[in-house]
Amino acid sequence: MRLANLATIVRGLHLLGPTTRSDLVRRTGLTRSAVGDLVAELTDRGLVHEVPSEPTGAPGRPSPVVTPRAETNVVLGVEIMVDTVAVAAVGLGGTLLRSVRRPREHGPADVDRTLDDVAGLTSDVLDSLTTPSALFGVGVAVPGLIRRDGATVATAPNLGWADLHLVAALRPRLASDAPISVLNEADAGALAESRRGAAARRGNVLYLSGEVGVGGGIITGGHQLTGSTGFAGEVGHLPIRPDGDECRCGGRGCFETEIGEAKLLERAGLDPAAGAGAITDLLERSAAGDADAVRALEEHGRWLGFGLSGLINVLDPGVVVLGGLLRTLHPHLERPMLDTLDRHVLADIRAGTTIAPSALGDDAPLLGAAELAWDRTLADPTALPTPLPRSA
Ligand SMILES: [Zn+2]
Repeated sequence: MRLANLATIVRGLHLLGPTTRSDLVRRTGLTRSAVGDLVAELTDRGLVHEVPSEPTGAPGRPSPVVTPRAETNVVLGVEIMVDTVAVAAVGLGGTLLRSVRRPREHGPADVDRTLDDVAGLTSDVLDSLTTPSALFGVGVAVPGLIRRDGATVATAPNLGWADLHLVAALRPRLASDAPISVLNEADAGALAESRRGAAARRGNVLYLSGEVGVGGGIITGGHQLTGSTGFAGEVGHLPIRPDGDECRCGGRGCFETEIGEAKLLERAGLDPAAGAGAITDLLERSAAGDADAVRALEEHGRWLGFGLSGLINVLDPGVVVLGGLLRTLHPHLERPMLDTLDRHVLADIRAGTTIAPSALGDDAPLLGAAELAWDRTLADPTALPTPLPRSA
């Protein structure tokens, strides 16, 4: 019971920020003395401190503000993507203390070299922290299928990885006993957006991130949808067009083959392999009124709306967050996408659904990996941290 109450308070402070003792009493339904007692324990553990509140002019003694100690309680978020590797230190309360992102060669990624890069960035991040800190965990976001153990990458086609026990490979390089957990990058994006982004404090969220491939993260009733194998949410391989292009999954006409980067370039009559730079050119041409570019974006928006309609009718997510390339394209695709949703989504569900671009941008998966790393502490604030590894 005491542990559950400690967890409620820490979770509230982590997600909602500094809170007065009176508001904690109101929020938890506990007595004033019980809250005082729990805050004293969290203070002893070094997780929070109390600061005097601003005088309000109201009579009576102002209630002290219970504040998470971000600088001394940290987790690491790691993001391994096709084009970049990034590491962030995030404090309790969600404060981003430091992050570093480094480009890497596009295409298959040598495991050893990639993880050496991660270790190097981790040292840079940790060495830059000015206050002696404790490490509560490490979360790693990867664009691939992650097994239910939260440690093994079953397959990450764009990295060329398969059956890789990522935790075992990463641990010796981090020189830390802190818990390490791995999740899919779109699941990480969904987690971050649902805690601090465009879907903050919403229990039902569909996060769709498009790049070379298209990934999805689904939160329903406050829980990440994992499925029986752990691979649920592969919305990129929702078949939507029987006569469509072949997909890298072996299927045909998947959502990904219709709304991925390559298809947009092809629709505009450009080289499908031309990459992100060509997308920027395409958007500039569209803004200048180029008919092919305008038509390509119009058609792309309709296919985005068509696939989303099926997902929205099934999931009733309330909020759909568009990340990655789809965030960049959102203003250009919005009108045809919404017109298509209006035609295909059941009216009562449509009325309760908003479509929003990611609020956290390119960092959403990185911050989501850090949020995953906080989960053990949010469930059990008495779980002990490990000392911060430092390079010699
Ligand atoms: Zn597919």
